[in-house]
Amino acid sequence: MRFGFHISISEGFLRVVEKAQFRGCETIQFFSRNPRGWKYDSLDQEEAERFRQSIQSSNLSPLFLHLPYLPNIASKNSKFYNRSIDSIVIDLERAELLGATYLIIHIGHRMESSEDEAIESVAWAINQVFDRMKNSIVLLLENTAGQGTEIGYELNQIAKIIERVGERDRIGICFDTAHAFEAGYDLSNRDGIESTLESFDRMIGLKKLHLLHLNDSKTPLGSKKDRHWHIGEGYIGLEGFRYLINHPLLNHLPGIMETPRKDTVEDLKNMKVMRSLVQ
Ligand SMILES: [Zn+2]
Ligand SMILES: [Zn+2]
Repeated sequence: MRFGFHISISEGFLRVVEKAQFRGCETIQFFSRNPRGWKYDSLDQEEAERFRQSIQSSNLSPLFLHLPYLPNIASKNSKFYNRSIDSIVIDLERAELLGATYLIIHIGHRMESSEDEAIESVAWAINQVFDRMKNSIVLLLENTAGQGTEIGYELNQIAKIIERVGERDRIGICFDTAHAFEAGYDLSNRDGIESTLESFDRMIGLKKLHLLHLNDSKTPLGSKKDRHWHIGEGYIGLEGFRYLINHPLLNHLPGIMETPRKDTVEDLKNMKVMRSLVQ
């Protein structure tokens, strides 16, 4: 498995490679703009070009762009629904300019809609996006913890969304271990992992799985509370991660950690722990 972290662009795109290499990353995830706002500047073409060159001369691959947090395509009643669709179109374009292969999006909050309406809203939005923006970037839906009114915490909800998407080759899954565990999929032991993978393959197909978000969970199984924690120090634990990352159906995938970070020291420790589990 190729490991990496979410890398901040707060000091510019040109510092990303250096930060990634310092942490021992082989793959990375990043935002193309401020994740907590709607406003953005258009990408500086020259900076994007220099960024792509810096990536090419590194061993970092593949690159995952993550959509900002505010867009929500799971509720047509939200006043931000159309703006959210625009936002995905924009980041598909930016992903290409920055040399990323994938764009990760959160499935979203259904708010006052029913679950079925939310599934329709998500699929409708994705079909709009794909009609408006034609490129080779693969859109990855990230499973949720089911916190609040989040949808996409059950594999069958994700399967229903994909069934409703026209250009299915352009869509895949980013599977977050903390979110799955918090949603009730027990990834702390062999039996739980095997049955989760069996369900995933039956409902969605493992070939749709392109990325693992490797986060331990600070909250117990089925808590529906999204709290990422350090690898091996949460409820999934070392044995869960050891079994996951060495699994023959998963060990070819990239794995990105989004573990808590006050300091780079914590990243270095999480990378060390993760690598110590590789068999
Ligand atoms: Zn995640
Ligand atoms: Zn999360």
